[in-house]
Amino acid sequence: MTPSPYVSRINQIDAAQLDTEVYKLLKNQTREIARYLPPGKIDKWQPEVDAVLKFLIWKFSLHRGSSTFGQRLLNLHYANINQRKAVLYLILSIAPQYVKDKLVNENLSERGPVALTLKSFVDWTTNAINLLELVNLLFFLHRGVQPHLIEFLLGLSSRSITTHRPRIIGYSYMTRELLWHGLMELFTIGIPMINLHYLKQVVRRLWRRKGPSIRLLPVMTAETKCAYCFENLILPSHAGCEHLFCYYCLQAHFTAMSVFQCPSCDVELRAEDMKRYTVATAPLSGDEESDDSFEKVDDG
Ligand SMILES: [Zn+2]
Ligand SMILES: [Zn+2]
Repeated sequence: MTPSPYVSRINQIDAAQLDTEVYKLLKNQTREIARYLPPGKIDKWQPEVDAVLKFLIWKFSLHRGSSTFGQRLLNLHYANINQRKAVLYLILSIAPQYVKDKLVNENLSERGPVALTLKSFVDWTTNAINLLELVNLLFFLHRGVQPHLIEFLLGLSSRSITTHRPRIIGYSYMTRELLWHGLMELFTIGIPMINLHYLKQVVRRLWRRKGPSIRLLPVMTAETKCAYCFENLILPSHAGCEHLFCYYCLQAHFTAMSVFQCPSCDVELRAEDMKRYTVATAPLSGDEESDDSFEKVDDG
């Protein structure tokens, strides 16, 4: 059986896409290596690193055989490639990108007008190449061969290694993806609606003893810490037990639920009892008003 000469467009595009992915994979690995080095050390050599990576990919694919890695995965190859074309392929795929990247990193304004002219020339060439790529792509969609400009210039065209078979696409991964996305959506919408703070308090209340009904007023000393975060008090506040809380620690609790138990003494604290701690509320000063407000509290 002779291999069928026809290769579908989608297979050729996929092969190119896979090649790009292989390159990106290696590039990300080099980035990982350089991650903890001082910044700027590797960035300066990024164009060279990219060029070396492209060379290595070429060395182990087109230099040895007649197909790129992407083509190999899809059972394609260049039927009419030779050593000369392979070398030209390498140069054409590395050189333009390398020159462009190199000029981006250089500070050209210090190098005089010649360098600036060179830069604008390279910019124009890049634009022209991009335009030609687009035109070539349109031709490719029409004719079905040579999706890339390099392939067009070198006269390379993909051929199938095996006999032509219809493209088989499995959709099982898509189902999995859909399921996973659905689940993620459910979580991102559902989780913020659950008052986890409240649930935590309910569970704690189940196996904690009932707090004493006698309520004392808090006294603040230099060593007093917040009963919730155990840090130095910020805007000390209290709500019916002898413990002091930071304003935000307490207010955050009351935002989540209007009644909760003090984490230290298990007395039920209520949002309406919340007060800022002032010296006047300390028992020694004999502030009658604050005492009254605590008597109103229903101990349940
Ligand atoms: Zn606190
Ligand atoms: Zn307490």
